[in-house]
Amino acid sequence: MKYDLIIIGAGPAGVAAAIYAKRSGLNILIIEKNMVGGLLNNINSIENYPGIKNISGPDLAFNMFEQLKNLNIKIQKEEVLDIKLEDNFKKVITNKDTYFTKYIILATGRATNKLNVLNADKFLHKGISYCAICDGNLYKDQEVCVVGGGDSAFQESLYLANICSKVTILIRKNKARAKKELLNRVKEIKNIEILYNSSIERLDGKDKLESVQLTNGNTIKCLALFVYIGFLPSLAFLDNLDIAMENNYLIVDNNYETSIEGIYAVGDNIKQQIYQIVTAASAGAVAATNVFNELKNPQK
Ligand SMILES: Cc1cc2nc3c(=O)[nH]c(=O)nc-3n(C[C@H](O)[C@H](O)[C@H](O)COP(=O)(O)OP(=O)(O)OC[C@H]3O[C@@H](n4cnc5c(N)ncnc54)[C@H](O)[C@@H]3O)c2cc1C
Repeated sequence: MKYDLIIIGAGPAGVAAAIYAKRSGLNILIIEKNMVGGLLNNINSIENYPGIKNISGPDLAFNMFEQLKNLNIKIQKEEVLDIKLEDNFKKVITNKDTYFTKYIILATGRATNKLNVLNADKFLHKGISYCAICDGNLYKDQEVCVVGGGDSAFQESLYLANICSKVTILIRKNKARAKKELLNRVKEIKNIEILYNSSIERLDGKDKLESVQLTNGNTIKCLALFVYIGFLPSLAFLDNLDIAMENNYLIVDNNYETSIEGIYAVGDNIKQQIYQIVTAASAGAVAATNVFNELKNPQK
């Protein structure tokens, strides 16, 4: 069967694209390698989505899943490994199957950067975590560290401070990148300490993490280190395509079309100013509407 549109990734960008495409009558498929909601599943609390004062990421993800189900949108739980361009259609190759489609929307988001210091791999899941909401409870009433100076690091530190006895935020530079509002909130919490000029040299412990050794000679005792040190788009499956990118992010035009005709990209994998749920959802809606318009007016 040939689809009108295949959407790769079911985070907020892909889900919004799917809702708009399906409601306009297109024959669509979503391919998602993991869970509907994408990064939302790792967020403790969302307070900046219009109309929702506060919601946990997993709850918002579940609402999205239900919305897709109610619209009878087909989701294949597979990983896309390659895309091939044919004359009048595109082939999407996954770890299990091959699908044919006229249009593609890439909504694959970005993954958190991995910590690259001595013993980081050794202590993965033995103290090193990339998800506070998943693992925070394992360290109830314990001392933990967070590495990173951006919004994610600060937001998740606030969450951890409710569970753990102490949270130490380690920032490489002499100031934080996080929004002022978040910075001020963190400063008011008694059991959060911010350490600037604090690069990690190595991680120490016997079978699991016990302390973090800094390059400035200080040692910080902690049973867990939560890592929020930036992101990289998940686009390795495009390696065989000659598609325009800048610093590993996809370049799109005002319609969210990439340099390859019929392939659109939305959400955290494109070069843009801010990386938020609202911008991801907005892009998904616009791209799906443009695909619909293209299908209705193919001569354009
Ligand atoms: C800790 C943290 C807190 C945040 N807090 C907020 C907040 O409070 N408010 C806010 O607006 N934003 C917040 N964000 C940002 C927000 O989560 C992202 O901007 C948003 O999730 C981007 O949506 P997306 O659909 O582009 O990508 P994602 O949510 O990353 O979804 C991409 C999906 O694509 C799938 N995928 C990737 N590659 C493939 C492949 N090859 N085959 C099949 N599937 C694939 C992934 O499994 C994933 O499900 C936060 C982010 C983090 C990390």
